[in-house]
Parts: sequence; C-alpha cells; structure tokens
Amino acid sequence: MGPPGVGKGTQARKLTERLRVPHVSTGDMLRDAVHDGSVLGRRVRPFLEAGQLVPDELMEELIVERLGRQDAKQGFILDGFPRTADQVITLDRVLGRLGATLDRAFVLTVPEAELVRRLSGRRVCPGCGALYHIESRPPASAGAKRLRPKALVQRPDDQEDVVKHRLEVYRDQTLPVIRAYSDRSLHVEVDGTGDPDAVSRRIDRGLAAV
Ligand code: AMP
Repeated sequence: MGPPGVGKGTQARKLTERLRVPHVSTGDMLRDAVHDGSVLGRRVRPFLEAGQLVPDELMEELIVERLGRQDAKQGFILDGFPRTADQVITLDRVLGRLGATLDRAFVLTVPEAELVRRLSGRRVCPGCGALYHIESRPPASAGAKRLRPKALVQRPDDQEDVVKHRLEVYRDQTLPVIRAYSDRSLHVEVDGTGDPDAVSRRIDRGLAAV
C-alpha cells in the first residue's frame, strides 16, 4: 500500500518473483480491461483517466474473480487493493470464503515532492507493463530488457493535474484503510526512498517475521 508513485508496482513485482505467488494489481487489471475495450474496460475508463477510484461494486467483482483463480491458491501479493473502507470489508469476506488470512500490509512512504517527480517521469512499456523513468531508469539503462524505446508511453493519469487529484483521493479514501490494518497490527511501514533493491531488502526484513 501507499500513495501513487511510491513504488508499489515495482516492489510487488520483485516480491512476486521471490515468493512465486501471483501479483494481483487492480490498476494493471483495469488498464488491461481498458486496453482490450471490454465491457468492464468501457465502464472504468473515465474513472482511470480522471484519477478517480472505480466504484466499489465493480472492484468487488474483479477481486472476487481474481482471487478465486487456481494460481492464487498458494497466496498472492495485492497491489492497489483495498483502497477504501468498503474494500477492506470486501477483502475480509473474500479471504474468509477462501480460508485465507492476510499476513502483512506493507505501507511504503516517500516524501510528496519525490512522488510527483517519480510519476511525472514514469514511462511504461505498453506490451509487458515494465516501468521506466526518464531520469532514474531510462530505457537504455543496465538491466532493462530488449526495448522498442519509442513505444514507451506515459499513463494518462500520470499527467500533473491528475496526479494531484490522485494524491488527494489517496489522503481522503486510502489513509483510513491503512489505519484499519494498523489497528489489527498487520501494518508494517517501509521507507520507500532510494534504490528499489534497498527498499526490497527493507520489505524482506518485515517478511522475515511472517
Ligand atoms: P494504480 O495503478 O494502482 O495507481 O491504479 C490506477 C487507477 O486504477 C486508480 O487511479 C483508480 O482509478 C483505479 N484503481 C486501481 N485500484 C483500485 C481500487 N482498489 N479501487 C478503485 N479504483 C482502483
């Protein structure tokens, strides 16, 4: 969990590789639906483009279907869900039905100026979803996979005015979710600044206690 641009996607992908459980990113699922032009995609597109949250009823359908799939039986990394108090209740219900429990809620933190810098320079490979940054992780950087650099795109919701709105939505709707997990002692705060591998080691220390 954490505000837009804090590194949730990057860290969730790393965890997925290490733990060999699926990365369940509601943002990626919604963007895929928009890209495919499905019925769901057409319904959610205006919300994504405006940086608003998709209504809870639609999110419930999406998450129930995803967590019920076979590949989620041994666990999963949730990225971007739950984001509202209602979604916390939905998740509790779904986990109860699956006989699963939440091990940890990692909350990444980064100063707001850094979030804006990260989001405005973020670029995405439309094919595989790999993330780049025009300054700190340019396409030509070491470790970047074979690329067609011109094809990288900026997410429409990474434009400055939409970013500001997403940060407000986060403060209003998602901070209470973090408080809920902190009340249950599931919440582990992790400094999200610096090199992604350093952040990942901080997360590992929190995981070691699971
Ligand atoms: P993300 O990639 O997690 O930043 O999500 C991108 C956008 O997808 C958000 O700004 C919302 O419009 C939508 N979205 C993703 N996850 C959720 C969620 N749990 N509830 C509502 N909307 C969501």
